[in-house]
Amino acid sequence: KSNAPVLDSYWMPFTANRQFKAAPRLFTAAKGMHYTTDDGRRVLDGTAGLWCVNAGHGREQITRAVEHQLATLDYAPSFQMGHPIAFDFAERLAALAPGSQDNKLDRVFFTGSGSESVDTALKIAVAYQRAIGQGTRTRLIGRERGYHGVGFGGITVGGLVNNRRVFPQLPGADHLRHTHDLERNAFTRGQPEHGADLADDLERLVVLHGAETIAACIVEPVAGSTGVLLPPKGYLQRLRDICTKHGILLIFDEVITGFGRLGAPFAADYFGVTPDLVTTAKGLTNGAIPMGAVFASRTVHDALMNGPEAAIELFHGYTYSGHPAACAAGLATLDIYEQEGLLTRASRLESQWHEAIHSLAGLPKVIDIRTIGLVAGIELASRPDAAGTRAYEVFVKCFEKGLLIRVTGDIIALSPPLIVEEDQIGEIVSVLGDVLRQ
Ligand code: PMP
Repeated sequence: KSNAPVLDSYWMPFTANRQFKAAPRLFTAAKGMHYTTDDGRRVLDGTAGLWCVNAGHGREQITRAVEHQLATLDYAPSFQMGHPIAFDFAERLAALAPGSQDNKLDRVFFTGSGSESVDTALKIAVAYQRAIGQGTRTRLIGRERGYHGVGFGGITVGGLVNNRRVFPQLPGADHLRHTHDLERNAFTRGQPEHGADLADDLERLVVLHGAETIAACIVEPVAGSTGVLLPPKGYLQRLRDICTKHGILLIFDEVITGFGRLGAPFAADYFGVTPDLVTTAKGLTNGAIPMGAVFASRTVHDALMNGPEAAIELFHGYTYSGHPAACAAGLATLDIYEQEGLLTRASRLESQWHEAIHSLAGLPKVIDIRTIGLVAGIELASRPDAAGTRAYEVFVKCFEKGLLIRVTGDIIALSPPLIVEEDQIGEIVSVLGDVLRQ
């Protein structure tokens, strides 16, 4: 009897369903930089799982911490009750939080995923505006080609047009223009040079809708899932300035960029721009246990908790907010990040990473390469008449040759665990180069 699982009952994420079932690929184990497949092959992880396994796979410190926590206190509610490990974890995160000494985002709200973090941050923004007497500010601004998860809030501000067409939207939302300059950058390493005036598109929306209707603007500092789109120099700072000028809260969605991906703990640190709220998940627990966290400024937190319409009146929180096992995983993850210097390792590897990835320039069909921190986007010329994209074909061939990459449309995305060694960077580029040359 074959060991292959029956594929009928499990309804996978919609977009992946057909591709997977056409050619099932199963991982059964993982350690360090490698997965093992069901037929016993080793596959180098070029994507840190789904941008989340920043410290590499199978970390015993995390396993032990979770095991101990489950054996000691498996679950406790976060409503009217608490448990110490959630406070410990929040305290450790607060010390790491982005922001300056006098404006640190050191108020931490726990969620169960990136999508929950996004919905939480959007709700906090609207509730905050109301708490400070700005109840007309309910409009949310996102950006075309942004990705903010799959809650109704995240879909509304996100840039996945199919989702926006099918599902009802939160009323009044609008999107910053996605421009060519934010997309291809003529093979630039790091941020493209184009000025900050692209961010002035937010002024257009302010004029169009009226500042008094807008609660918040949410962007990924570096858009990940939609193809590694880098902000031009000055873009994020200009967004910050416009938001401040008009009383709009700025939210950075750092579900991907948080926890060392760019070579600083957060993208907010990397770019030197402090938003009002930061959403995180993924690297928070090294992907080991699902968890997210929203970081808020004290101004936002205090207005909500102590304002005339205190948040106490609102109901928001999750059964698994601050789950003990997730907090244990998170604390062990932070220990590893700190012991191994992983939150800044990407900055030490950055130039080598850039060199290696950019050596693929000039290969057939490669029309752009974008690198920042330990992230790369390699864009291929599209082939609209064919069944699958070229990038998907590249994904399949890389997998056969023992390398896991991620593809989104025509774009190959790379984001290896932050423990990646120099020879493994070489291996990623060599396999990918061979496949692209074919
Ligand atoms: N925001 C961003 C920027 C993301 O990349 C993702 C996931 N790729 C999410 C939100 C949603 O996170 P989750 O899948 O954990 O809900």
